[in-house]
Amino acid sequence: MTTKEPEIDCPRCLGKGFVNDADIKRLGRQLEWTSGLCGYCVGIGTVNAYMLKNKEVNDLYLTSDLPLVEREKYLSNDQEALDRAAIQEVNAKLMIGFIQNYYLNEKKSVDEIVEILIQDYGADANKISQIKTSVTNIIKHTNPDVDGIQF
Ligand SMILES: [Zn+2]
Repeated sequence: MTTKEPEIDCPRCLGKGFVNDADIKRLGRQLEWTSGLCGYCVGIGTVNAYMLKNKEVNDLYLTSDLPLVEREKYLSNDQEALDRAAIQEVNAKLMIGFIQNYYLNEKKSVDEIVEILIQDYGADANKISQIKTSVTNIIKHTNPDVDGIQF
């Protein structure tokens, strides 16, 4: 990656270094993301022109959770990393569909859905609070009628 490219305010977080609900809404990732450290600029607030050409600003794989080694592979368009990103995107869509179905059709609560994900789908029980946050976020953005509900 070149260092000669000019630095530009990060278009994901608008230079703040973290994404808030407004950023997430602007980027159309309400189902996938919650507020936190910006995964596009990793909190720096600026990116270079190469980055903008290389990866979409709302790229699903570029989150702050992505390990640095994998991030570097992905940014250099390593084929295996690109494949892993594609698989993760499919898995994320499937998981959102599962959660929406359990909530809307089977009337399961957040806690029940978290339990199902751990028991039946092998979700990591050590990450229960993150899983709960994700499930809550998906439900919150699934049905506009429940926007006013406090979770
Ligand atoms: Zn950023």
